[in-house]
Amino acid sequence: MNLHEYQGKALFAEYNLPVSKGKIIFKAEDVIEACNEIGGSKWVVKAQVHAGGRGKAGGVELIDDPNEGVKFAKKWLGKNLITYQTDKDGQPVNSILIEECTEIVKELYLSAVIDRESQKIVFIGSCEGGVNIEEVAKNAPEKIIYQGVTYGDKSLLENATNIAKVLKLDEKQTNQFLPMIENLLRLFIEKDLSLLEINPLVINEKGDLHCLDAKINIDSNALYRQPELQDMYDESQEDPQEAEAAKSDLSYVSLDGNIGCMVNGAGLAMGTMDTIKFFGGNPANFLDVGGTATQQRVAKAFKIILKDPEVKVVLVNIFGGIVRCDLIAEGIIAAIKEEDISIPVVVRLEGNNAEKGAKILSKANIKIESINNLSDAAKKVVELAK
Ligand code: GDP
Ligand code: MG
Repeated sequence: MNLHEYQGKALFAEYNLPVSKGKIIFKAEDVIEACNEIGGSKWVVKAQVHAGGRGKAGGVELIDDPNEGVKFAKKWLGKNLITYQTDKDGQPVNSILIEECTEIVKELYLSAVIDRESQKIVFIGSCEGGVNIEEVAKNAPEKIIYQGVTYGDKSLLENATNIAKVLKLDEKQTNQFLPMIENLLRLFIEKDLSLLEINPLVINEKGDLHCLDAKINIDSNALYRQPELQDMYDESQEDPQEAEAAKSDLSYVSLDGNIGCMVNGAGLAMGTMDTIKFFGGNPANFLDVGGTATQQRVAKAFKIILKDPEVKVVLVNIFGGIVRCDLIAEGIIAAIKEEDISIPVVVRLEGNNAEKGAKILSKANIKIESINNLSDAAKKVVELAK
């Protein structure tokens, strides 16, 4: 689950990390009061969306008159912001963060992710911040450090010093940086993060380190024990079908093809997509109904797949392990009747009671093609999708 910048910065503040004084607003008429409350004479206004690259897309502006902030808010609230990280439609802007403007002397990069290979949290740092880190990795990899760390380990100090060197921090900044790494690490662990990025981490005019941006991703599997983070969920930023699927505990990822796929098990889903691709087709989604493919789940899955207007045909590929294919067949028939599905549906059942399931499908008075061989089923949907 992703957080907005303002939510991430609230967590930063909770963990004693230096962030700007700011206010979040949802209505253009609240801009002036927010600027007055923050004080000063220069502010930065930032459209809140779950995507980076806002600066280059006009979603971040420096202002020295609150009325310009009102103009900015009127321009963006209720609109979509398109950046290089969003899809072609962009992400809806429903709130704007107003902050006291920081004088930037230097922009740095700092992030943390989990490295499964070393089984550690790894900090990534660079003296080139504020830009796309992928570019730095490509053009000047020597300017990036990847430093594994362990909380509570004596070597943490040494590790943090290594990063500080690559960031080219002076003594005072290094002294600020060491507790900063410790706080970030504590935040990462205590809040079950999977990603944390500060781009840019800046050096301000006083020579102090300051967090100017905050990108935080929380491990969704741990949300059950993070109720206050659950409340930060913003459904408006999610793909509507993916959000609906998540509510029903279905794994759904939308893709840009036109063949809807309903499969049980992630491995089988990937195999199914590969087979479709092999025969020249393009999957519209990845949908795993899971091991417990009941009639209700099958019906829900159909509903979600059919919300994608690009879908021209659906391939159902179910392996009956614990589930029985005859029950799945009944579920598919009920779902197709219930949802009044008019596009072609190809079903491939294999495993437990597969033949019985196929028989039920062939006797049903609806348009379903039951094909037991996966290659043939894939060829068929590719043909139907054309
Ligand atoms: P992103 O483009 O979505 O990553 O948004 P950022 O929060 O990183 O802001 C983009 C850029 O705006 C930063 O790299 C800074 O150059 C600039 N910026 C953001 N906040 C401030 C600020 O307080 N003062 C100044 N001078 N520039 C800022
Ligand atoms: Mg940024």
